Amino acid sequence: MKMRVQVVIESAVGEPTDVHEIGCIHREELRPDTVGLTLDEVKTVLERMQQRIVERQAAEYLRTQSRCPHCGNKRYHKGAHAVTIRTLFGKLRLKSPRVYHCQCQPSPTRTFSPLVERLPERSTPELLYLETKWASLMSYGLTTKLLDAVLPIGKQVNAETVRHHLHAVAQRTEAELGDEQTVFIDGCPRDWAALLRPEGPLTVGLDGGYLHSCDKTSRKDGWLEVIAGKSITAEGAAKCFAFVHRYDTKPKRRVFEVLKSQGMQRNQHVTFLSDGGDTVRQLQLYLNPQAEHLLDWFHVTLRIPVMTQMAKGLEGKDVAIQSGVLKELERSKWYLWHGNVYEACLSIDNLELLLDNDDALTAKRRSLLKALRDFRVYITTNARLIPNYGERWRYGEAVATGFVESTVNQVVSKRFVKKQQMK
Ligand SMILES: [Zn+2]
Repeated sequence: MKMRVQVVIESAVGEPTDVHEIGCIHREELRPDTVGLTLDEVKTVLERMQQRIVERQAAEYLRTQSRCPHCGNKRYHKGAHAVTIRTLFGKLRLKSPRVYHCQCQPSPTRTFSPLVERLPERSTPELLYLETKWASLMSYGLTTKLLDAVLPIGKQVNAETVRHHLHAVAQRTEAELGDEQTVFIDGCPRDWAALLRPEGPLTVGLDGGYLHSCDKTSRKDGWLEVIAGKSITAEGAAKCFAFVHRYDTKPKRRVFEVLKSQGMQRNQHVTFLSDGGDTVRQLQLYLNPQAEHLLDWFHVTLRIPVMTQMAKGLEGKDVAIQSGVLKELERSKWYLWHGNVYEACLSIDNLELLLDNDDALTAKRRSLLKALRDFRVYITTNARLIPNYGERWRYGEAVATGFVESTVNQVVSKRFVKKQQMK
């Protein structure tokens, strides 16, 4: 059996239709590997179809340009050259004539190329979109392999081109980002109250991580702090963002635009969960008047298992206080879960007394004591940001952002850490 694939172009009334043969598919018996089209056939057919379609579009456009739009006089040709247009379905070379400007209007140049003026960019937006999308998720090399596997343009794309395009697209989106501001939502509470009540809250998790600069000269310098975050709507739709602290000149605007794109209203309730660090605290201030800032339960409890392990490691004469220490650690965690910072601190004080009652402390006991004192400082510094987690939990409200930790990993570890292909 033989099947022919054709492009039939129906022009304006009265003109004959144009038929172009672009492929022929041969099939004999039906087998799993002969069902429908193969990838190679699809690529060939698409490429030829694209060539025909674009050639025709260009010809039609040039026809409309053959006369001066002001006086209707014919434009005279001054030779022609070829332009290359890269599309998802192939790299096309089109004949582009150069014509003289009509004398009826003043013009800065004597001649121009209508097609080049119409298509100033050599790559179509869809191609740039796919290249950028995939190159932001994996290496430039893999991106070219993926495009090559599925699209006719693939064999024409190389890693350097993709890199160049990604940077150009990034610069373009950066240029579209508005100015940095201290306060992003204006008006007064009375106006906000009059607005329609938005659906559920937005939950925004923020966290930081460090990475090496690739041109660092010593072990000490060349560290960059990356802030990564994720914003989740009540329906569960999530968006990630990240930037380099101190390098990015518009961090607030960047986060604000992410929240806005998720439909944040002026009277929307927004919950920011973070580790309480200075950088992220500064960032989330004034982004929304209805915002609440909480210490992420994940960060509160991150240190407790470490101290529990240290307590379990106590030996020799310290074994006597071990069970007491473990029990008190549990108690402090329980108080924190219920937002009772005062009792949690008393519990930590008890622990200190328990551990620091000997003239000759063992090394293990000293390091546990140090971890405990650091923990107390952390809790008291961030006391204002500690809610009643238990109650929030019961009402189905966010208490932790384990999800942000994975965002940080995604951005910091996976993309930049040594030996990764996307360094
Ligand atoms: Zn004219």
